[in-house]
Amino acid sequence: MYNVKENLSEVLATLTDGVRLVAISKYHPAEYVMAAYDEGQRVFGESHEQELKQKHEQLPKDIEWHFIGHLQTNKVKYIVPYISMIEAVDSIRLLREIEKQAAKCDRVVKVLLELHIAEEATKYGLTLDACRQLLDEGEWRQMSHVSICGLMMMASNTDDEQQIEEEFQTAQDFFNEVKTHYFANDPAFCERSWGMSDDYLLALRHGSTLVRIGTRIFGPRIY
Ligand SMILES: *Cc1c(COP(=O)(O)O)cnc(C)c1O
Repeated sequence: MYNVKENLSEVLATLTDGVRLVAISKYHPAEYVMAAYDEGQRVFGESHEQELKQKHEQLPKDIEWHFIGHLQTNKVKYIVPYISMIEAVDSIRLLREIEKQAAKCDRVVKVLLELHIAEEATKYGLTLDACRQLLDEGEWRQMSHVSICGLMMMASNTDDEQQIEEEFQTAQDFFNEVKTHYFANDPAFCERSWGMSDDYLLALRHGSTLVRIGTRIFGPRIY
């Protein structure tokens, strides 16, 4: 097995106070999750509903699962009963469906709004204006089964560190704006999920509170 324990402790040693690790276990077997679990890691991230379901059934029930991928509305009902956080909410339609399904389960599901800041055209997420518009429209205020806990984003996949840092800073500035305008009295709105294996050290300089790290802990994924 890839050296999960050693890699995990190396990553944890580099995190600053108040930053939590979401260990991204997609495409890795349950044994790898257990190796990290045995070291005390409890928060894991997956991006496919079927794979998440299998791992959730096989693995200890005190794991907090984060859904980090693009979620189709017709899949929401399958994950809502047990998911801890849905990180990549990028439409009011998806938010509505989470509210509806969470109400059926009598749960409150934590969500993050996903921002599109990177230059790649293929990535999902709300532009800053679309995010402002969603929040201005205010429908979310009536939703008692979703808790909007912050923002999530992916930086561009580039070697240009300055560009990556600018994108993280844009996200951090936007977080401050949204916090002030819509969530000033809501302490739950506090999370900034940015930083992956190749860029999390940069993300830590720009306000990240959750880093989503896969490869650096579990090794390369075999698709
Ligand atoms: C796969 C994935 C990650 C982890 O990427 P690594 O480069 O393996 O650390 C983080 N965030 C999202 C949204 C992902 O899909």
